[in-house]
Parts: sequence; C-alpha cells; structure tokens
Amino acid sequence: MSISRRKFIGAGAAAAAALTFDKTADAATPRISVVERATAAEPAFRPVVVASANGIRGVARAYDMITRQNADTLDAIIAGVNIQELDPEDQSVGLGGLPNEEGVVQLDASCMHGPTKRAGSVAVLEDIATASLVAKAVMDHTDHVMLAGAGAKKFALEMGFKEQNLLTEKSRQDWLRWKACLNPNDNWLDSRSDSVAPPPGTASLPFDDPLHVKFTTGTINMNAVNAAGEMSSVTTTSGRSWKLPGRVGDSPIIGAGQYCDNSVGSAGSTGRGEANIKVCGAFLIVEFMRQGMSPDQACMKTIDRVIAMTERRLLDPNGRPLFDLEFFALARDGRFGSACAYEGVQFSVADASGARLVPMKFKFARSERPQMPEIRCRRA
Ligand code: ASP
Repeated sequence: MSISRRKFIGAGAAAAAALTFDKTADAATPRISVVERATAAEPAFRPVVVASANGIRGVARAYDMITRQNADTLDAIIAGVNIQELDPEDQSVGLGGLPNEEGVVQLDASCMHGPTKRAGSVAVLEDIATASLVAKAVMDHTDHVMLAGAGAKKFALEMGFKEQNLLTEKSRQDWLRWKACLNPNDNWLDSRSDSVAPPPGTASLPFDDPLHVKFTTGTINMNAVNAAGEMSSVTTTSGRSWKLPGRVGDSPIIGAGQYCDNSVGSAGSTGRGEANIKVCGAFLIVEFMRQGMSPDQACMKTIDRVIAMTERRLLDPNGRPLFDLEFFALARDGRFGSACAYEGVQFSVADASGARLVPMKFKFARSERPQMPEIRCRRA
C-alpha cells in the first residue's frame, strides 16, 4: 500500500473513526444491494446471526444492520462484537479484559469475509480496544493475513486507531489478587508427566479456585449470513487471564478461533484455546458441514475430536476434559448449531424471531463435570 495511512484516517482518530475507515475499506468492493444480489443470481437466503452468549447485544445489532441497513455481514458482526470490546465491564474482551501475568492486556482477534474470501488477524495486540477492527484492517489494507505484537500495534496506530490503557481498575485489582496468591511452589505446569491421568481433585488445569481469584476465560465469536447468502465470521478476546506474555490463543488463528467458507458456512469457538488449536476446530466444523452434517452434528463431532486429541494430564480418570470449550456454527442456508463439553452453556441467535439465548448441545451432563480445582501460577 503506497498511500499514507495516517492521512487515510487522520492521527488520533477514535473508535468511531475506525468504523469510518471500515467503510472506506469496503469501497474497494463494489457494493450491490442485498435485494439485487439475492434476485440476480440466487434465491434469497435467511438472514441469521449467531454468537457466544456474551454476544446477545451484538447479534441484535448485527442482525439489525444486515436486515435494515443493508450492511455488509462482516461490518455488521464487527459492530456487534465492538459492543463487548468497548465495554469496560466485560473482562474477557478489549477494554477491561483481564491481563497477562505481568498485568498487561494482550488481545487476539481474527475475521473472515466470505464473499471476497479474505481473512485478517492480530495477536498479542496491546493498547487498542477494538482488536476485531485491527484484524479487518490487516485484511483490507495489507497483503498479509496476520500481524502480531509490536508490529500489530504499530500498524494499528498508523491506521489511526486510538491508543488507550486497557487495564481497568477492576481488572487491575483482580490481577493484584491473583499475584498475591502466588507462592514459591507454583509453576506454569503442575505435572510434567503425561503417562497417567491425574487422580480426581488434583488436576493441574487452573480454572475455578473458590478461595482465590478465578482463572478466567472468555471470548466473543460471531457469525452471520444475509439474504444474499453472504457470510462472515469474527472472534475477539483478551485470552486466558494471567497468561504468559506473548501467549497466542485460538482466537487469532484462522481455522481455529473462527472460519468462514461462503459456499458452506462459518464457525467459531470460545474456551480453552490450546485445546482448539490442535484440531483446527472452526475449519473442521465447516468441513464436517461440507460433508453434510448439520451445524449441531459438526460441532459435536469436533468436541469429540478435541477430546481424542487431549493429553492425559487434561483428562479426568473417566476421559472427560478438565476444561471448557464451546463451538458455534452457522450453515449458509441459515441452520445454526453449537456444542460444548459440559451442560449449562447458552449461545446467542438473532433471526426473524428476534435475538435470544439458546441452550447449547453438550457432551457431558452437568453432574459429570469434574472438579477443576487448582489455580496454578508461575513461580513467584
Ligand atoms: N479461546 C480463548 C483463548 O484461548 C479464551 C476463551 O475463550 O475463554 O484465548
């Protein structure tokens, strides 16, 4: 790109400006109205937006943009996830996200635009709240797919994104409480042996510790199809709390955290990214749908694959995972589905029936969920 990026947006532009260049970026793609697209080539499709549960406000916004404002599907779902990214109360995404072990908020995000077959991604992005928009900017304005770390931030600043401190006082207090829990015997990995599964109650995975600060995960994934059968997907997150600096989760990995093939469907995930990366979960779901599975079946089959690919130390003696993972899928024809490891999770859907939370299909009943007890930290 030879143009001056700073001139493109203007230095110091805020998130609103990011939305402006978002539109500018679209100028590269001729805009045809949804009605024209639907009647010209193909029968009308059923507009649907699907997301993780925290996307309930976002799916409503995205559906409205798609159906009433003729918005592009990727613009619409990014506007949807921006709600969480800019909400300081949401500690799993963007502003207010929980930091890494050094108290620095590092964000991951990726997106795919079905009609143009393009993808963009950022990993380990600091000081820019709307990581999803930076991922889209990588897609729109570079010949690359993924930027990480300092380079991602430099690019974002050059594109006019606003730099800000993402660590809210609430998240800083949680981080300080977590640090206070460190003791000299803690380490990054509790068990080095994978030869045996841990006995019940001694699992090494650091999830819910009732005595201390909760080990927190959280992410927002969103997928959409419009009346012309155009699809997009996006996933954005602050990743696992207290992670090692530089840790990259599944969210920015195209094919893991999200994937979209406009001829089939799109999919995405939340939960333990390390487990998802190993099976390229979102890609696998889309491939299963291509083979004829329903979105529900494709998601559940991918949960099965995750379990089959999980190391022993992360399985309980009954072979059940010591972590949570959720998959969401949307077929081009508007069918949607989901699956997670343990009962009790919902996901967000918006269609002609409105925006609502729907119970996810699950692999194991709530009563089968093993204790996930220990908080494990790096050595102090
Ligand atoms: N998938 C995210 C990650 O591993 C975290 C989450 O969804 O909870 O970074």
